[in-house]
Amino acid sequence: MHTVTLIPGDGIGPSIADVAVRVIEAAGVDIQWERVEAGMTAIDKFKDPLPEHVLESIRRTRVALKGPLTTPVGSGFRSVNVALRKEFDLYSNVRPAHSFEGVPSRYRDVDLIIVRENTEEFYAGIEHYIDPSRSAAETIGVVTRTGSERIVRYAYDYARRHGRKKVTTVHKANILKYTGGLFLDVSRSVAAEYQDIKTEDKIIDNMAMQMVINPHQFDVIVTTNLFGDILSDLASGLVGGLGLAPGANIGYNAAIFEAVHGSAPDIAGKNLANPAALILAGVLMLRHLNETAAADRIEKAVARVLSEGRYVTRDLNPGAPVGTAEMGGEIIRNLT
Ligand code: NAD
Repeated sequence: MHTVTLIPGDGIGPSIADVAVRVIEAAGVDIQWERVEAGMTAIDKFKDPLPEHVLESIRRTRVALKGPLTTPVGSGFRSVNVALRKEFDLYSNVRPAHSFEGVPSRYRDVDLIIVRENTEEFYAGIEHYIDPSRSAAETIGVVTRTGSERIVRYAYDYARRHGRKKVTTVHKANILKYTGGLFLDVSRSVAAEYQDIKTEDKIIDNMAMQMVINPHQFDVIVTTNLFGDILSDLASGLVGGLGLAPGANIGYNAAIFEAVHGSAPDIAGKNLANPAALILAGVLMLRHLNETAAADRIEKAVARVLSEGRYVTRDLNPGAPVGTAEMGGEIIRNLT
């Protein structure tokens, strides 16, 4: 039996988390869930977006499945997602994007893995207004040699473990001479140790264009925090949207699995949210827990429901959609 921390999140979070838990349980995995609240719902209850008992639970279980958490834009509390990644040093954010048969999208057979550095640079929270009248603001993006080396190494090790052929380092070292330059230098010296994996590097702006024009040329992509955040949403758009994009936040001592998408306030409470991204995050979690057979069964069931295209949410079938729980129910019926 596994013990897993469950953070349902807010917005569409609780509805998709319920479905993900039902699907995982229907696949026969024995999990004791420790259900805790963070973000908006925790502020309402505990006056703290990240209460100590949430951290304590993850410290103990070392694995969490997390629904999306709203972060107020501009002022308000800092991102709980970022705080969790920093607290547990979840330095690697792995975001796969691959095509599913039957899903309306611009491309077929896309199969990309984005490995995003998850703790440094512009997300480290070193920022302030320079004076009380807020005439200017500064955000300091720190990139370290150690941080760069471990994420690039993670990407190459991932490529080796999964039989992948190429790693593309994405950077902006032509303009960000120091932070971008350091990341690129480190990536080139790490790459030299992996002669079996093809290596290339691309400047972020060109990369964005290349991914839209011909995503099939890429395999594993490794990049810094902000670029990885943006490119992974772009990648999800290539394969049918955010409703299908899972992510894993991996550290040495803990791992948190979540969808790439956020709390989707525009559709929250309307029974429109696609649960597949969080279910697929659950699949990544099951692989992490060595529950490979259950992970395969769930992935196949999701693929079947998507390929059939009838019991899917509005983002995938605007003409005749079903609701979040109905799509989950159909995935469960397809578990074989
Ligand atoms: P979003 O990802 O929540 O939504 C972007 C668009 O995609 C919206 O139109 C939404 O309706 C759609 N969408 C997202 N998930 C969907 C799903 N499962 N099914 C169908 N459609 C879906 O991005 P946003 O609106 O920019 O952000 C909303 C909030 O989420 C913000 O507070 C942001 O900080 C937060 N956020 C949290 C996480 C996280 O918890 N890891 C990630 C991204 C954004």
